[in-house]
Amino acid sequence: MFDLVIKNGLCLINGNFLRYNIGVEGNRIAYVGKEDIKGEEKINAEGCFVLPGLFNAHTHSAMTLLRGYAEGLPLKDWLEKVWEMEAKLDEKAVYLGAKLACVEMLKNGITCFADMYIHMDGVARAVEETGIRAVLGYGMADRGNDDRAKEELRIAKDFIKRWNGKERIKCILTPHAVYTCSKDFLAKISEIAKENGFIKHIHASETFWEVKEAKRRYGMSPIELLDSIGFLDSNTVLAHGVWLSDSDMELISKSGSSVAHCPSSNLKLSSGIAKVAEMLEKGINVCLGTDGAASNNMLNLFNEMRISALLQQLRRKFLNPAKYLEMATWNGYRAYGIDSGSVERGMLADLVIMEIGQSHRPIYDPVNSIVYSSLGSEVRDVIVDGRIALEDRNPVYVDLEKLCEEVSSFAFFHSSL
Ligand SMILES: [Zn+2]
Repeated sequence: MFDLVIKNGLCLINGNFLRYNIGVEGNRIAYVGKEDIKGEEKINAEGCFVLPGLFNAHTHSAMTLLRGYAEGLPLKDWLEKVWEMEAKLDEKAVYLGAKLACVEMLKNGITCFADMYIHMDGVARAVEETGIRAVLGYGMADRGNDDRAKEELRIAKDFIKRWNGKERIKCILTPHAVYTCSKDFLAKISEIAKENGFIKHIHASETFWEVKEAKRRYGMSPIELLDSIGFLDSNTVLAHGVWLSDSDMELISKSGSSVAHCPSSNLKLSSGIAKVAEMLEKGINVCLGTDGAASNNMLNLFNEMRISALLQQLRRKFLNPAKYLEMATWNGYRAYGIDSGSVERGMLADLVIMEIGQSHRPIYDPVNSIVYSSLGSEVRDVIVDGRIALEDRNPVYVDLEKLCEEVSSFAFFHSSL
């Protein structure tokens, strides 16, 4: 008798869709096969796809509060407006924004996300209460000031002490970028990460300006700079990687670092188009992220898969569509060292059950259909860590109506609606 069984779904296993049953014991997948298994709880997945949970490899979840606030602006003007609002945020605001984000992500089949931001206790509480899994870090920036560097590290370490390993949370070190953090500060973070086995996550080579600025300041690209201080290794995830030279890609590939590709955000902020095909050719582990809702505006990896594929095709790079699904699932879990992202015995039970909707008919190939035709609304049930977190499109642990009311009545929120 399993704790939970999922019956008769078309399960994605090694690239094929097979009509199998899945048995979950505790927080792990304990059985995948054709036997008629029994469980305490049962989900009928007849006529549904069963996928591994999607991993949002780069976001700032509380930025849901700034969704739609600054639109139609170039990066510099956009950033000024966003920073002005972020200065007013406190832990309660971050908690509410992150909670909204967690629910939205669950509804879109995301079972884990990586987040760097401020007031991270608010994000951790939102994760705890919604049932999702997360990789969290306090977004550090010393801006060349030694006292500030010490204080930023203290905040980051305190957060790790409070939350690492609790409630499906893995804590990481997240310096913001090479233009907001000094070289010495980044080297120090790298040292601490190595000593403690922490993963590092940083924005890198997002814009042409960032690369130009690093070359002016250090005579090196952001990637060369990170490499020169020993920051790049298999425990590093670089967000964006839009402006990478061939030799930057070689350095990333050799180090085993991953890149979190965020196509919608790169379009919206006019950052550019990442060379995904070339990165994959060089053996780089590319995963997929939404970035914050203020620069997307959705937290929907089905949308990111589609946009990523369309952008590569605009560049006349035609990848097997299965690569995009891998980027949205397996590659994210690999990047952050979490034992999930595949429907396989022994893996953490993070699973998504999708109804095969009208937009998917006829189905010539399920992977093509998921990558190019999915809206996210097909997601019916989501299991995280062996527990149902979204059931029949409703979040199990959250009163969504109450949450929306709380967000609307919160002083920070200036909407009249
Ligand atoms: Zn970002």
